[in-house]
Amino acid sequence: MILNEATSLKELSLNNYLFNEESAKLYEEYTLKTLNHIQQFLSQRKFYKGDNLEEIQAHRNKAKLYDIELPNSIDNALTELNELYIQNAISFHNPNYVAHLNCPITLPSIVAEMIATTINTAVETWDQSTSATFIEQEVIRWICNEYSFDKNSDGVFTSGGTQSNFMALLMARDHYAYEHFGINIKQNGWSDEISKFRIFCSEKSHFSIKKNAALLGMGYDAVIPVKVDDKMRMDTEALYVAIEKTKQEGNIPVAVVATLGTTDYGSFDPLETIGKIAKEQDMWLHIDGAYGGCFVLAESHKHYFEGIEMADSVTVDFHKTLFQPVSCSAFLAKNKQHFQYVSYYADYLNPIEDKDPERPNLIEKSMQTTRRFDALKVWLTLKTLGTKTIATYLEEVHQLAKQVYHHILNNPNFEVAHVPELSTVVFRYKNSEAQHEPTHDDVNLYIKSFLYRSGKASIASTKLNGNIYLKFTLLNPKNTINNLLNIIKMIEETGKQYQPKTEAL
Ligand SMILES: *Cc1c(COP(=O)(O)O)cnc(C)c1O
Repeated sequence: MILNEATSLKELSLNNYLFNEESAKLYEEYTLKTLNHIQQFLSQRKFYKGDNLEEIQAHRNKAKLYDIELPNSIDNALTELNELYIQNAISFHNPNYVAHLNCPITLPSIVAEMIATTINTAVETWDQSTSATFIEQEVIRWICNEYSFDKNSDGVFTSGGTQSNFMALLMARDHYAYEHFGINIKQNGWSDEISKFRIFCSEKSHFSIKKNAALLGMGYDAVIPVKVDDKMRMDTEALYVAIEKTKQEGNIPVAVVATLGTTDYGSFDPLETIGKIAKEQDMWLHIDGAYGGCFVLAESHKHYFEGIEMADSVTVDFHKTLFQPVSCSAFLAKNKQHFQYVSYYADYLNPIEDKDPERPNLIEKSMQTTRRFDALKVWLTLKTLGTKTIATYLEEVHQLAKQVYHHILNNPNFEVAHVPELSTVVFRYKNSEAQHEPTHDDVNLYIKSFLYRSGKASIASTKLNGNIYLKFTLLNPKNTINNLLNIIKMIEETGKQYQPKTEAL
């Protein structure tokens, strides 16, 4: 497109690119064009086109931004995008995608994303978000009720479990410092006592606990990993011993994190016993339910939540187990007063003089300022599917994990690491002819990367006792045991093909 005059450029761009009262027709046009590409994406049979080094190089070049001074047609840009990204994107809804905690998403949640993105509400102050405020509050109330938290509880949407866990550790630290030492960290910053604060979690807890402790200035060493039993659940005897040892060393046990659904094994820490220990020791009890938290809806898993009334805070990820698009997570506090540790009153945004209980400003509970209206997709999903439908999805993925477990348990080519409690199965391929252990690691890594690069299946890997294991993370209720057994067969065939890099070389 050639444009000679600045005025014509301005006119053209004002009429073609900004969303406003004149955009209805163009909005429809753009949406239909997008739909074309999405339909192509949906027609792809494989979870991934596959790759090799040459293609990766080519994609890096195609992503380069050149010639961006003047307008170009959306058609051209979308065509380029299709080749570069859409055709190479990973389909999380594909039944051969069983790697990470990515779920297929509900159609109502996509509609909600379109609405929230198009209207572009920012849920920080009442004057920007109006009734969206109530929708977020209502979804928070719903999940608080599921955990039997009363009216004194509250919560806020966050960008994910990592951020939710950050808020939990911040509250635990600041609350303990204030209650026990009269220290106001928010106002006065660091104080020497804090270097003695210790946080306990199982050795299988998510890395964000350590990472957040570091970000909060407490360091990795403030986190004490507690060993797990053979079901990958926190050993509460070991927790007790670790707390006593910490006190003898002159340090201060401040918080315990119980994981409901560990990232690798889907195991549930014994909440009731941990809760009692935490209360006896006057420690903050945080529940990391990023993965397992939504299973409160599933009859089969309700008993794991007994004792949750003792929790001070909860993390739950809707983008993992409520079939929501990224990102969608919540942080809940049983006592809403504790949100004071993150609140701030800015003159230009939410002056304290303006505080009005009828028109709440959600920013008072959030680390973020400008924030997406992520609650809408949960609200519309709940309204449309109903919690019972979601429960059947969750029961289904749990059943699939158990079925896979039973099938490979008696297969001599496999070694299973645990009995699945949620929807992951960790196992490894064991080549019976291999002579030493390290070869098992090599062959399992080979299997994972071969199946991924060929676009056949995406499986994850993790380490157990220093050895590489493979992992199925099952979050697609439309998957079938036959399809999963087919992946198992591909793993066996790939494992047999593997040629060890001969030691003779
Ligand atoms: C995934 C996960 C997290 C991190 O959540 P994000 O949404 O990825 O930030 C934290 N804890 C557990 C147990 C998880 O599985």
